[in-house]
Amino acid sequence: MPGLLERAFDRLLLRSARVAAVQRVSDRFRLIDLEGDALKGAAWAPGHKLQVKVAGPFTARTFTPIVFDAVRGHVRLLGYAHGAGPGSDWLRRVQAGDACQVFGPHRSLALGDLAGPVVLHGDETSFGLAAAVAAAMGARAQPRCVFEVESVDEATLALQALGINAALLVERRDEAGRKQAASGLWSQGSGDGTLFVLTGRAQSIQQARQALKGHGVPASCIVAKAYWAPGKTGMD
Ligand SMILES: Cc1cc2nc3c(=O)[nH]c(=O)nc-3n(C[C@H](O)[C@H](O)[C@H](O)COP(=O)(O)OP(=O)(O)OC[C@H]3O[C@@H](n4cnc5c(N)ncnc54)[C@H](O)[C@@H]3O)c2cc1C
Repeated sequence: MPGLLERAFDRLLLRSARVAAVQRVSDRFRLIDLEGDALKGAAWAPGHKLQVKVAGPFTARTFTPIVFDAVRGHVRLLGYAHGAGPGSDWLRRVQAGDACQVFGPHRSLALGDLAGPVVLHGDETSFGLAAAVAAAMGARAQPRCVFEVESVDEATLALQALGINAALLVERRDEAGRKQAASGLWSQGSGDGTLFVLTGRAQSIQQARQALKGHGVPASCIVAKAYWAPGKTGMD
């Protein structure tokens, strides 16, 4: 039973929702739909974040909405249960019908109007972002995606579930492959107007950013946000 302070905090800051559906895409990936009147009217754009209360008290983990329907009060997320942590535990146990409290959506990555070419570099935690960006770009173009992943087979299942069929996948343990993918990232772009969006593991973002700078990509064409870093918990 939450304490008085926690209940007051929840009432003031969190939106109440219900887990409408959970799809077990693979061992570690879950596609989760949340619904609720409290989600109606929220302002959202691709790249914004949503924090989900995954345990009490005050324990939230951050996700990226793939779609956010502020009229219906519906949001879809792709969660990756990487291992040990309250967020991963929640992903493994969450079921349709569960109550759920969320904080946000809030601004995280400023992606602009996504009118030009986009290259995404990230990992399993970036798949939801890729799907949101792809949906926003629509039929006119698709983002180029480069992801470092634990398992290519599992990542492929998750990306297929999101309708992302053309991503370059490199296994995280393949250090040479990862470095090569980062140093070749600039070549995925289609000229000066390309926006490079770097998310996922902090160290990989650093490597990708350095490689892009080395190839003369201006800082103004790079948008980055670390989604996790070894040893740090609950980054937002
Ligand atoms: C803006 C933003 C958007 C995000 N969007 C998504 C999303 O849409 N889907 C999604 O699945 N995640 C997303 N993440 C990442 C997610 O919030 C983190 O992975 C989170 O730390 C997981 O919580 P946890 O309780 O399982 O682990 P924590 O308790 O936070 O961490 C425990 C340990 O696990 C490590 N760890 C954390 N994440 C990973 C990982 N992915 N792989 C390997 N080790 C890890 C930590 O470094 C730490 O050592 C996002 C993060 C941010 C900041």
